[in-house]
Amino acid sequence: MSPTPAAPGVDPAMRMHAITDETTQIVDMVLEYARRRILSDDTPLDKPFTPAELRRLAGGSISAEGMGARRALALFENVLAPSCITTEHPRYLSFIPSAPSKAATAFDLIVSATAVYGGSWLEGSGAVFAENEVLSWLATEFGLPGDAGGVFVQGGTIGNLSALVAARDHADRVRRAAGRPRPERWVIIGSAEAHSSIKSAAKVMDVDVVAIPVGASGVMHGDQVREALVEHGTAVIAVVATGGSTNFGIVDDISSIAALKDEHDFWLHIDGAYGLAAALSDVARPRFAGIERADSLIVDPHKWLFTPFDSCALIYRDPEIARVAHTQHAEYLDALTESTEWNPSDYSVQLTRRARGLPLWFSLATFGAQAYRDAIAASIELAHAVAAEIEQRDYLALVREPQLSVVVFERVGWQPGDYAHWSNRLLDEQHAFVVPSSHAGRTNARFAIVNPRTTLDDLTGILDSMQ
Ligand SMILES: *Cc1c(COP(=O)(O)O)cnc(C)c1O
Repeated sequence: MSPTPAAPGVDPAMRMHAITDETTQIVDMVLEYARRRILSDDTPLDKPFTPAELRRLAGGSISAEGMGARRALALFENVLAPSCITTEHPRYLSFIPSAPSKAATAFDLIVSATAVYGGSWLEGSGAVFAENEVLSWLATEFGLPGDAGGVFVQGGTIGNLSALVAARDHADRVRRAAGRPRPERWVIIGSAEAHSSIKSAAKVMDVDVVAIPVGASGVMHGDQVREALVEHGTAVIAVVATGGSTNFGIVDDISSIAALKDEHDFWLHIDGAYGLAAALSDVARPRFAGIERADSLIVDPHKWLFTPFDSCALIYRDPEIARVAHTQHAEYLDALTESTEWNPSDYSVQLTRRARGLPLWFSLATFGAQAYRDAIAASIELAHAVAAEIEQRDYLALVREPQLSVVVFERVGWQPGDYAHWSNRLLDEQHAFVVPSSHAGRTNARFAIVNPRTTLDDLTGILDSMQ
């Protein structure tokens, strides 16, 4: 098959941009594919291909003349897409799955179609306004003051980094204003079970992490944090409390940590990338008592707020601190930096940005907050139901009682190789995607449940497969 040549009379430099039969057909084909995929409820789990397989099946796709949209799309549909795991499959239970609402996924196409620039008020005021409506709704839910605000960034890793950079800038200013010298090494205090992105942020910032060992419960408490605050004093950039650890879904004792603010002056950051969404549900809200005293927090809509990749809501109690820390200055940006309007780029380590909060805005505006609360509560209840099933089976043992929607358990008597074999078989049979995890050197199995389409039967079926 040879590619369609440009229509006669079309300037070759305009071929990709002019509205012609060719470009119209391409748009139709792509939208038709997207429509089919979004509305499909039986897309298989699929699985990775090897580099050699992909080279053989899909290599050499780039040429001077192009292969034409029909062939390129067929290549995607028949080879590239099936070699990507379907992360919103109801039996994708590894890592943190994705479970975007149909509305959010569809609207993501519009974010592209309208070429909205989300970095500045000047260029994207309507989009920025709508994103800020969502951020301000979240801030109110979490008990932050009405003038709290921030920005949707790519993910929790960038969200944590941006918050900690703002916290250090603030700490540095406060020290300088008081005429105190800079500490030799800055320090971030967090739980030993905090997410790896905290270490990664510390590495980028060239600061140290004080990792507080947590006991069998996995929960970091105020008493432990107090000792670290006393020991490290004014070198502390921030205390990071985890609002739902990724491994276990365990929430630190935020209330006793926040209460330390009565004795010590420190920045409290809540890493709620996965778990903070649960604070929207009455079922779990009490676990998050104290978040109203946070100086910054994050929650990833692409995890448990039913939004497509990639999106993290980063919120500051006092956004002005973040603006001072993050605003980029350059001659070509003068028109933006000299304005007093809300420019999202000023609140994180990024400049050009997609309005990645809009799919959440659309879905939330469409269905309302209660639909979110109900869907989140359902996953928490399902996690507890499957934990009860695990306790009833003598060949299984819960590692920890679940708090949110992550359930970790062991198959009694299994070695690491048994877990790997079982997990591979589940994927080979296209039944489920459950990769082994580990805790304290022992291999285990882990369900992360965020998809309202996941059922108790799905989960007990997987438990049965371990007998
Ligand atoms: C997933 C996660 C992160 C990292 O977020 P990304 O969006 O993957 O960058 C940070 N902290 C916690 C607790 C997480 O669960």
